[in-house]
Amino acid sequence: MRLLLVEDDKDLNRQIKAALIDNGYVVDSAQDGEEGHFLGSTEAYDAVVLDLGLPLMDGISVLESWRREGHKMPVLILTARDRWNDKVAGFDAGADDYVAKPFHMEELLARLRALIRRAAGHASSEITCGPILLDTKTSRIFVNDAQVKLTSLEFRLLSYMLHQQGRVISRTELVEHLYDQDFDRDSNTIEVFVGRIRKKLGTNMLKTVRGLGYQLIEEGV
Ligand code: CA
Repeated sequence: MRLLLVEDDKDLNRQIKAALIDNGYVVDSAQDGEEGHFLGSTEAYDAVVLDLGLPLMDGISVLESWRREGHKMPVLILTARDRWNDKVAGFDAGADDYVAKPFHMEELLARLRALIRRAAGHASSEITCGPILLDTKTSRIFVNDAQVKLTSLEFRLLSYMLHQQGRVISRTELVEHLYDQDFDRDSNTIEVFVGRIRKKLGTNMLKTVRGLGYQLIEEGV
């Protein structure tokens, strides 16, 4: 899962980014509204954390512009504690959720998990596909109740496939959701990671769809 963080407070930006990375996400961050707007318009994100008070372009304008352009990714806004009108303006501009500053990082993380799974059509915090279970609260994956040890990149790949199960995902889409913008992306390495994940899962559920990409699907379906 790949997230965009737009926050001009340098310390807060660093803190949130570190917490998101700790929790298994790849993160692009921007410190002003123009750069944030550009990234959100041109890159693929599973969710965005957007501060409202930003230099160059304010958060509400950024969000309105994304929605006008048809970008549908979930957006969580950061608002000031006493500014109820910011929350109203944010929702009206297309926000999906908010946290008011100062906030507990755990709350921000929980709200992001909920937004990401909801956007993929999952109501429960545990996402299953046959014998595979992803516990989004703890970022752990089990097969038949036994935990599967994955590297962070393998986890991101499988977590994305579990959220998007049943759908054929192209290599390009996978690369977009696994790496940050600075990474030298090579979609050929995806096949290697998929091979390793298959071995660790011990199932044949992560299929290669020739010429199209990959599909996670319950066997016998
Ligand atoms: Ca700010």
